[in-house]
Amino acid sequence: MFHYLDNAATTPVRPEAAQAALEAMTRDWGNPSSRYALGTRAAAQVKLWRSDVAAGLGCAPEELVFTSCGTEGDNWAIRGAVELNRRRGKHIVTTAIEHAAVLETCKGLERQGYEVTYLKPDRRGNINPADLEAALRPDTVLVSMMLVNNELGTVLPVAEAARAIKKAGCPALLHCDAVQGFLKVPFTPRELGADLVTVSGHKIHAPKGIGALYIRRGVKLLPLICGGGQEGGLRSGTEATSQIAAFAAAVRAGRASFERDYKYMLDLKAYAVQALTGAVPELELIGDGRAPHILAVSLPGFKSEVVVRFLSDRGVYVSSGSACHKGKPSHVYAALGLPKKILDGALRVSFSYDTTREDVDALAQGLLAARNELFTALS
Ligand code: PLP
Repeated sequence: MFHYLDNAATTPVRPEAAQAALEAMTRDWGNPSSRYALGTRAAAQVKLWRSDVAAGLGCAPEELVFTSCGTEGDNWAIRGAVELNRRRGKHIVTTAIEHAAVLETCKGLERQGYEVTYLKPDRRGNINPADLEAALRPDTVLVSMMLVNNELGTVLPVAEAARAIKKAGCPALLHCDAVQGFLKVPFTPRELGADLVTVSGHKIHAPKGIGALYIRRGVKLLPLICGGGQEGGLRSGTEATSQIAAFAAAVRAGRASFERDYKYMLDLKAYAVQALTGAVPELELIGDGRAPHILAVSLPGFKSEVVVRFLSDRGVYVSSGSACHKGKPSHVYAALGLPKKILDGALRVSFSYDTTREDVDALAQGLLAARNELFTALS
């Protein structure tokens, strides 16, 4: 028995998705490129599954390419966009609080001669659209801005970024990493005005190893993988049918209960704020996270790594930031310019539709015990 409160790291596969994967593996396991019935049936199903995922994004199925994960989508979108615009300039704008999948790709491009402007958040984790407007130049070829920050839950001004690009008249394509936004906050790529949008399956109760990249019709990205011409020739390789089936099932289920889940998580987050600060009054809330599933807090003066391990021993799972940091301090919390005591004690709590008040209560009790016992241990 454990209490899982780290749904921004990954989510459990929902039964509908696991069942869909099982059927794709054991019944409809043909190669979609094969010409006999087993293959053509698999191809027809991939077509349906693509429509399901596209419906989740409110885009056309032809605008969606399946990838292996969010990281792949981010890498491809960014490298593909600057390649497309290679004759128009070498300036990129992104934010200091993007996921490593975006930041490391941008750093790689810096080593190749690109100039990157990293927009800084305010102390609440918000990005000011005016800063983006000021950063745009005639040679800006890409703006990459996430929709929901994975460590704060802040919602970034992506639609405003699209408007600013238009107003500035620069050639920039707009990429949005919506890995933490997909089926958590309402949006469509069209409403955002984005050219490229990354999503990932394992954040929405599909298995790991599947994601998708939205490529707006008319944006002619170069193929990521050349070969047999699958995925419209953009990403060759035999389709991962069981992963795609599960992704589609998770999207169908997530869409069906979106409003209910959204409200449920928002209520649970409000409950968590009450329960956690009630149990440990010195707990600090970090940032202005409006997304319903992510809450950043800090136990000032306590090392978050130590608290995470202490809670883990009690069967309560939260993180000290993005799972990708592997013990390094979070660049996101650092970007807020918080006092060291608060920075050191930062914890991310994240919910899903199957998180309960009992999970939150267990965390509150765990934090109270951490505050009492770890304090004793340190003093
Ligand atoms: N972008 C954001 C905002 C994320 O939170 C994550 C995962 O934590 C990723 C990208 C990477 O996605 P994946 O784990 O599917 O590679």
